[in-house]
Amino acid sequence: MGNAMRKTIKLSISILLSCFLLAFYGCSNDVTAKERTQNLKDYGIVIDAGHGGQDPGAVSTINGIIESDLNLEIAKKLQSIFMEQGISSSLTRTNENALAETKDEDMNSRRTIIHSSNAPVMVSIHMNSFPDDPNVWGPQVFYCDLESSKELADTLQSLLNEATGGKRKSAYLELYILQGNPMPSVLVECGFISNEVEAIKLSDKEYQALIAQTIADGIYNYCGYKNP
Ligand SMILES: [Zn+2]
Repeated sequence: MGNAMRKTIKLSISILLSCFLLAFYGCSNDVTAKERTQNLKDYGIVIDAGHGGQDPGAVSTINGIIESDLNLEIAKKLQSIFMEQGISSSLTRTNENALAETKDEDMNSRRTIIHSSNAPVMVSIHMNSFPDDPNVWGPQVFYCDLESSKELADTLQSLLNEATGGKRKSAYLELYILQGNPMPSVLVECGFISNEVEAIKLSDKEYQALIAQTIADGIYNYCGYKNP
């Protein structure tokens, strides 16, 4: 066999192999989409209300609202929205208390809850604050190591922008709560409590419900779940 022929055969084999891998990858993606829907029905989702206990998170200098309270409000609203669909959710905390005495233990306990869940999605709820520039506003979604987390973050970011008129982009950030999780995981900063307009909006129950509903819609979209 001549060198040219050998090269042609090699090339054909590698093209065939690429096609096979592409077909296989495409196929496994379809299965994953179906699995996401089924896993959502079977295992629900994990909702992490950030901060709590000794750690209030950010406190608004505009109207005194406390991040840990708002996080819990929105986490609970999200839980109710899922409950209406018969979808369960595990909250890392269900009241104003932290999960442990120290911050390290608290974060470890959150990680244990997240890692022991088969849920197809984990969402951590937070409020942003940047008192140095009170003009900064808008929800922002962060993701970390999984490509699927970025996909989920982009879905949520675009729906949150549509719902609020925000213009921010999702971003990669190495956060403990997002690292090494078995499922796609995002952290939603629902808005800036250092911005006057947004702090007032975020204190409003209807606006909180809008944010929670938008996060739920993003998760339904990502999981391919058809909201009846
Ligand atoms: Zn926070």
